[in-house]
Amino acid sequence: MRLAIELARRALAIPGAGEVGCVIVKNGEVVADGFNESELTIDPTAHAEIVAIRKAARKWNDINLCRATLYCTLQPCGMCSMACIWANIGRIVYGASRKDVNSIYFELRHFNTADLICDAFRNDLEVISGVLADQCSKLYVKPHEAVPPNKLEGDTVH
Ligand SMILES: [Zn+2]
Repeated sequence: MRLAIELARRALAIPGAGEVGCVIVKNGEVVADGFNESELTIDPTAHAEIVAIRKAARKWNDINLCRATLYCTLQPCGMCSMACIWANIGRIVYGASRKDVNSIYFELRHFNTADLICDAFRNDLEVISGVLADQCSKLYVKPHEAVPPNKLEGDTVH
């Protein structure tokens, strides 16, 4: 998780990158990592988790990530949760939860991705929340804070 936090901090310094860090680990080794590249690559699916999953799959030349562990600084969204299910991630470990951050980081309506995973067709995907949550949540706008103009929906970098 410390590596994921470091990635998220690095992303803050890159114009167009998003402050979400992700690391995929298998057998104690880092397989792949990523940060949010959506605006950087003009790809709405380029969340940190998706970036890391794609790298791991290419590295192993296999779409089955063999129950690897995915660490992420922020609770995965619905898209990334489903990607973990399809990639056969065995464990998701995240830091800041939806309740710890401003709603700009998530789908508009209440949607708990932990429930999605529990209700999905895999019952062997472990989810651990709140790991280094204080450090992770410092990366994001808080629920009660005003949203900076550069974080508003529809903002683009020209
Ligand atoms: Zn996501």
